[in-house]
Amino acid sequence: MDLRSDYPFWLLDKGILYTYPSLLNDIKTDVAIMGAGISGALAAWHLRHAGFKTVIVDKRHVGMGSTAASTALLQYEIDTPLSELIIKRGERDAVRSYLLCLKAIDDLEAICGNWKEAAFTRRPSLQYASYKKDVALLKKEYELRKQHGIAVQWLNDNDIKNKFGFEKDAGILSRDAAEVKAYSLTHALLHKCRSLGVEVYDHTAITHFSEHKNGVELKTEDGKKIKARKLVIACGYESAQYVPKKIQTLQSTYAIVSEPATTDHHWYRNALIWETARPYLYLRTTDDNRIVIGGKDDDFSDPRKRDKALPVKAKALEQAFKKLFPNIHFRTDFKWAGTFASTKDGLPYIGHLPGKPHTYFALGFGGNGITFSVLAAQMITNMALGLQDDDARLFNFNR
Ligand SMILES: Cc1cc2nc3c(=O)[nH]c(=O)nc-3n(C[C@H](O)[C@H](O)[C@H](O)COP(=O)(O)OP(=O)(O)OC[C@H]3O[C@@H](n4cnc5c(N)ncnc54)[C@H](O)[C@@H]3O)c2cc1C
Repeated sequence: MDLRSDYPFWLLDKGILYTYPSLLNDIKTDVAIMGAGISGALAAWHLRHAGFKTVIVDKRHVGMGSTAASTALLQYEIDTPLSELIIKRGERDAVRSYLLCLKAIDDLEAICGNWKEAAFTRRPSLQYASYKKDVALLKKEYELRKQHGIAVQWLNDNDIKNKFGFEKDAGILSRDAAEVKAYSLTHALLHKCRSLGVEVYDHTAITHFSEHKNGVELKTEDGKKIKARKLVIACGYESAQYVPKKIQTLQSTYAIVSEPATTDHHWYRNALIWETARPYLYLRTTDDNRIVIGGKDDDFSDPRKRDKALPVKAKALEQAFKKLFPNIHFRTDFKWAGTFASTKDGLPYIGHLPGKPHTYFALGFGGNGITFSVLAAQMITNMALGLQDDDARLFNFNR
C-alpha cells in the first residue's frame, strides 16, 4: 500500500536516523513483531521490559510508513465525541475508553518525556465550535467530560478572542494533551530497544505466517523463518488484509508546516487546536517554532488521486489558517499527504482473532493513532504475560 506522499516534513528534517540489517538466518524468539512504526516500536519497548526475547521486522526502513507522516497530536479526545460513543458503546465503555486515552498521554510521557529527540511537550487542547449550531452539542460534550473527571474549561466567544485571538462562539479547553515527534520517537525507542537486546531487522518483508498449537511461524520474502511463541501484527493500515472482516475505512488526509517563526509564542500556550466540523482542521506548533496544520480529508484512498490533490489541499489549509489567524504570518515550507483509516466507533482494534490466541493485533486506527498505539503495547504485553486485562474487551474483534 502507498501510505503517504514522498516528502513529509519529519523525514526531510531528520533523514533516516538509523538503519538495520535485514534478516539473513532462521531465528527463534519469544515474540516477533511485524511492523516497525510507532505501534511496533512501543510494543517492542513494553514486551522487552516485561522480559520477552523480542524480534521486530519491517519491510521498509524503520518508521517509514504512516508514522513518518504523522502530525502527532496526542489527545484523549477520540474522533467520536463522548456523547456519540456512549450511544454506540454504552456509557461505561465509552467513558473508560476516553479515560484510557487520557492515561496513555501520561504513560507516554513517562517513557519519553525527557528524550530530547522525541520533543514530547505537554499542551492544552482547544476544540472550538465551528458553527453556531454546534455550540449546544459541544456544551453537552463539555458537561459529560466534566462529569467524568476530565479537566475541561468552557470558553465563550470572549474567552476565545482573548486567549486565541480569533472569533468563534465557544470551545472546550482541555488541560491534558501533548505533542511529540512520532518518527524520531520511533527511532529512539528502537535504538534503545536494541541496546536492551531486541533484534531489529529492516527490509525484511513477512510474506507468510501461520499459527500452530504452541506458537507462530513467519516466513520472509527471502525464505527465512522466524519461530515465535507470540506474533504482534503492527503493520498499520496494511494490517487489515490479515483480518477476515472489514474493520477500517480508508481516507486521504493532508498536512502542511510553516517556515519557523521568530517567536515561540503563537497563541495561548501553543495549545493544540481542532474543531467540531468534519473533516476537521487541526493545528499544533513545533519545538522549532513552526505551525503544523492538517485536515481537508477526502473520502478516497487512491494514492495517485491523493498526491495529485496535494497542492490544492495545501493551499486550502493555508487559507483556512489565514482566515482563523489573519495576523500571524504563515508561509508553507513543506506539505505532504497520507492515507488514513478510521473505524465505525473511532476505537482501535487490539487483541487476537477468535481461535488464534498467539497472534495479536495492534491496530490503532483513527485520529488518535498514537495514544491507541500506547494502549495496544500495554494490553498486548499483559496478554502475552497471561495477565487479566479488564479493558481489553473494549477494543476486541467481537464488536
Ligand atoms: C498525515 C497524518 C497525520 C496524522 N496525525 C496524527 C496525529 O496528529 N495524532 C495521532 O495520534 N495519529 C495521527 N496519525 C495517525 C498515526 O500516524 C498512525 O496511527 C500511526 O503512525 C500508525 O503507526 P503504525 O506503527 O501502526 O503504522 P506504520 O507507521 O504504518 O507502521 C507499520 C509498519 O509495518 C510495516 N509492514 C507492513 N507490512 C509488513 C510486512 N508484511 N512485513 C514487514 N513489515 C510490514 C510497514 O513497512 C510499516 O513501517 C496521522 C496519520 C497521518 C497519515
